Amino acid sequence: SGPAQNDPIFVAGHRGLVGSAVVRALEAAGYRNLILRRSSELDLRDQGAVNAFFAAERPRYVVCAAAKVGGIVANNDYPGDFIRDNMAIQMNVIENCRLTGVEKLIYLGSTCIYPKMAPQPIKEEHLLTGPLEPTNEAYAIAKIAGLKMCEAYAKQYGMKSVTLMATNLYGPGDNFDLDKSHVIPALMRKAHEAKLAGAPSMIVWGSGTPLREFLFVDDMAASARFCLENDIPHSMVNVGTGEEITIADLTRTICDVVGFEGDLVFDTSKPDGTPRKLADSSRLRGLGWAPKVGLRDGLAATYEWFLKTGDVRLT
Ligand code: GDP
Repeated sequence: SGPAQNDPIFVAGHRGLVGSAVVRALEAAGYRNLILRRSSELDLRDQGAVNAFFAAERPRYVVCAAAKVGGIVANNDYPGDFIRDNMAIQMNVIENCRLTGVEKLIYLGSTCIYPKMAPQPIKEEHLLTGPLEPTNEAYAIAKIAGLKMCEAYAKQYGMKSVTLMATNLYGPGDNFDLDKSHVIPALMRKAHEAKLAGAPSMIVWGSGTPLREFLFVDDMAASARFCLENDIPHSMVNVGTGEEITIADLTRTICDVVGFEGDLVFDTSKPDGTPRKLADSSRLRGLGWAPKVGLRDGLAATYEWFLKTGDVRLT
């Protein structure tokens, strides 16, 4: 039921963490007609440009991994940018999938769109059952709108799509810019720099007590391919490992991988965010997908990429 190997597949956001992993996964699976555009070539927020692009290229399948993303402080400080850019990107991409009769859209959501106090592990049906975590509310509202737009288009127009609600992702291709990055690249870079400087300690934001679930991005990409190739009898599925770790223990593991032996200083003036965020991924696992890469191996692969690629990557 999935794409033929030479069907045109548009991977939106192919320079980002998820998009680049999706490209690796699809290329490795033999798909040879991937349509890719950098943001400098196609601004997905620009409706006219996106209309013209779809009309000219006629992709048959679309993976929308394009989004404005960032860590807890960036989300908290620039909510207007997060809601505007994400609403525009998804509106243009989803509408053009409908207009040009795309066979299937894989749309990326995130587990941060669930209510802050959702029962754990979080199931898909907990969506919209309570207030959101305030630090990323703008991003979450945009993503919820995208997911609901996909569902509405399925209902009214019969458009096929699957939304992947990914847990916290990390891996090669991540953004290591300290002001914008998520916790793993931020702490990896801090540990690396502290090691090089021979510093006695490094700073960790918040109390260290929040629990998070982390998924290696190539496992996420495999789930995108899985949903592209198989009939998924749901509009949305969680994608996670089912394992959680405190930020303090995560930091210790990162320090171990990096080889930094100094102390950790917790800066409690920085936000903790939601106390716990564990997804119940049994829906997708029941259909046949499973993660393969454990946290330590994934962190080692990420550090290797970081060392090879230089210190900062701004997207
Ligand atoms: P979240 O999962 O949406 O809260 O996003 P993040 O990945 O940005 O943060 C996860 C947790 O890691 C939060 O509790 C942060 O306070 C904590 N954290 C600790 N140190 C850092 C850091 O240097 N950068 C970021 N982004 N988060 C950090």
